[in-house]
Amino acid sequence: MAKSPEQEHPVNSFGWAAKDPSGLLSPFRFSRRATGDEDVQFKVLFCGICHSDLHSIKNEWGFSQYPLVPGHEIVGVVTEVGSKVRNFKVGDRVGVGCMVGSCRSCENCANDLENYCPNIMLTYNSIYYDGTTTYGGYSDIMVANEHFVVHIPDNLPLDAAAPLLCAGITTYSPLKYFGFDKPGMHVGVVGLGGLGHVAVKFAKAFGVKVTVISTSPDKKEEALTQFGADSFLISKDPDQMQAAMGTMDGILDTVSAVHPLVPLIGLLKTNGKLIMLGAPDRPLELPVFPLLAGRKIIAGSGIGGMKETQEMIDFAAKHNITADIEVISADYLNTAMERLAKADVKYRFVIDIGNTLRAS
Ligand code: NAP
Ligand code: ZN
Ligand code: ZN
Repeated sequence: MAKSPEQEHPVNSFGWAAKDPSGLLSPFRFSRRATGDEDVQFKVLFCGICHSDLHSIKNEWGFSQYPLVPGHEIVGVVTEVGSKVRNFKVGDRVGVGCMVGSCRSCENCANDLENYCPNIMLTYNSIYYDGTTTYGGYSDIMVANEHFVVHIPDNLPLDAAAPLLCAGITTYSPLKYFGFDKPGMHVGVVGLGGLGHVAVKFAKAFGVKVTVISTSPDKKEEALTQFGADSFLISKDPDQMQAAMGTMDGILDTVSAVHPLVPLIGLLKTNGKLIMLGAPDRPLELPVFPLLAGRKIIAGSGIGGMKETQEMIDFAAKHNITADIEVISADYLNTAMERLAKADVKYRFVIDIGNTLRAS
């Protein structure tokens, strides 16, 4: 018989888990592996709440296994390193994002694209090499192979830096790869949530023109003044959308729910690119004629490789880019999830694990 989560490994750990698709989280005892030769163990201090956590706890993508401990925007301080660890020492400020393993030998891994490895191990809801389940950062201790750990530079506050581990790399990577980091570009960002607001900050740091496309009029002021966006469109206002037709070189779409694509394709110039980052639970409708009329491209992008993740954090440190966060205590988690479902957060919840997660 398989061992229980508490018996699998020697290190006692505690966190919050979803036990079924109800969307509710509750306290959960489990175990972490002993620190292996190439592993870094760290005390988790903060963990961001990504909308992917919400999709996962509700099994909206259909592959959740319970109990499920979410969390892949994890930061903390190193408590132990294995004998072969080269890049980290006890006391270092570190982070782990969406993945904790990959095959390390395929073409994608060889090209620093572990995020596209067919055998990627996700930080939670994956089966690790030793056959045990991976558990995420809504928990007190983390252990990961050093290849999947990054350094958090000293000038970044740990709480506001946590969301960079997923929201940051997920937006930085396509901005770079698709060439939206070149001055003169006009980039649209759809959905001003966790991903979207960080996308605006990176795009502005690259020196491009940014337009936010949102359903929330109350976010306009912050988008323009705090995040530096150049303009703000309400996607449900046909006149505003019509006036902006054919003006954008690229768009990052971070919307978490099913929504119409045709109006967004209409915003693109000839040869413009619409990059899908959001992961709604159902297929989106895609009439192709709007693509043909203007040689437009729709693509997707998923997080980023480890080398690029460190590059992104170092870039963020240099440009003082962090997330705008609402720090919560662990016992507020279920309320936070309800609010996230309604896009009622400015702009990322971050759990204060170090001060508020208590084994009960
Ligand atoms: P989030 O904080 O909830 O932000 C999503 C935003 O989308 C909301 O703030 C809202 O912005 C807009 N929105 C929500 N429902 C909408 C609807 N029905 N119609 C139009 N707009 C709507 O979520 P997040 O953490 O940024 O994640 C966004 C999505 O990206 C999720 O699906 C997540 O799973 C996915 N994701 C993908 C990757 C990847 O690697 N590709 C990585 C992380 C997350 P406004 O109020 O401005 O309209
Ligand atoms: Zn995420
Ligand atoms: Zn691989």
